Amino acid sequence: MPLIVSYEEAAQLVRGEAERVLARSLQKEFVPLLRAPGRVLAEPILADRDQPPFPRSTRDGFACRANELERGPLRIAGLLRAGQPWTGGSLGVGEAVEIMTGAAVPPGADCVAMVEHVAVAVAVGQVRLNGQQRPAAGENIVPTGAEAKRGDSIIPAGRRLGPAEIAAVAACGAATVPVFLRPRIAIVSTGDELVDVAQSPLTHQIRNSNSYSLGAQVAAAGGEPELLPIVRDDAAETEAVIRQAVTFDLILLTGGVSMGRFDFVEPALLTAGAEFLFTGVRMQPGKPVVFGRIGEKPFFGLPGNPISAMVTCALFVSPVLRALGGERETEPRFRMARLEEGIAVKAGLTRFLPARLQSDVHGTRVRRISWQGSGDLTAAARANSFLVVPESRDKLDEGEIVAILEL
Ligand code: AMP
Ligand code: MG
Repeated sequence: MPLIVSYEEAAQLVRGEAERVLARSLQKEFVPLLRAPGRVLAEPILADRDQPPFPRSTRDGFACRANELERGPLRIAGLLRAGQPWTGGSLGVGEAVEIMTGAAVPPGADCVAMVEHVAVAVAVGQVRLNGQQRPAAGENIVPTGAEAKRGDSIIPAGRRLGPAEIAAVAACGAATVPVFLRPRIAIVSTGDELVDVAQSPLTHQIRNSNSYSLGAQVAAAGGEPELLPIVRDDAAETEAVIRQAVTFDLILLTGGVSMGRFDFVEPALLTAGAEFLFTGVRMQPGKPVVFGRIGEKPFFGLPGNPISAMVTCALFVSPVLRALGGERETEPRFRMARLEEGIAVKAGLTRFLPARLQSDVHGTRVRRISWQGSGDLTAAARANSFLVVPESRDKLDEGEIVAILEL
């Protein structure tokens, strides 16, 4: 029986599956720090000492007491470079220490006067304010432990590691990082008309592009794609490939999910014992998309049209895939942008139209790009995002703030 749902309902079913997956315990491995970007942290990273571990000077200048410097010149008692310990004890009355950014501020000093704000009398070894600005107590010093205390969780488990997280991991001394294993994803393209990219297609044939676009999306969402050979529009062949694909963490089929006489994917899934969560979504592109499980294995049957496959993968597959990789934030990412030109459509389907997004500090603008429908993969290549038209709307106005799906 067909289970046709709205986009919102489909997203909710996918969210539920992502939560189920995240409730399981996942396997982990240790990788060197340089291999960790893009991976998902399997254990929290704890501060191995206070951050900063010493009161850190954030400027080149003179460490001193703010109220003393305000009153007159101070005697320069020494020079402190970053990485050099201060052995001179507490700062004496009327003293300043020349200090570099990143050095530990000596005890007794309560500020660092920036080098730009002082005048140095080298002959008499004195420093005084040059009248530009006077420092306040605490200025240009980050106190010990102000950023994090030893033992604090710096990055929670389940977070995808980007450059900022990698910096924090490195600062905590983790040369190898515990990460979740990447889920292995079986990608199967179906269709009698398909040939592989390396082959020369005859006039009536087309190259299999979906396996590669899906492979790219799977990798971007943290999965390890495995492309299985193209499957013909044949019931037995489709059933056989599904038996092979259930050994993977997630099964991704494309093509053969429509109402055509040679669309065998849904019946083959049923034969394999599939439980369907939906068999269609009121959206365009992507209407025939199917989602379910065979035992505990999630599967998706994506439409064959390249843009449909791309959009449904971003909306529905990626969240489940991220969850399989242990990532806590699984939702697809939407941005808001100002529509540059009005759009008219037929209401009743949530639409995801290829669009070009442009951003600067003043805002984000979006413009729909022309296309020949969901099979037009050159349009997808000209687009950098998809503009969302909610199911209830038959037009969007120029200047309106609209939601954008970024791939
Ligand atoms: P289907 O969903 O099987 O009815 O296919 C819909 C359209 O997508 C047809 O025009 C197919 O030729 C095309 N298509 C199906 N699979 C692929 C694929 N793997 N790569 C590129 N186009 C495909
Ligand atoms: Mg087909």
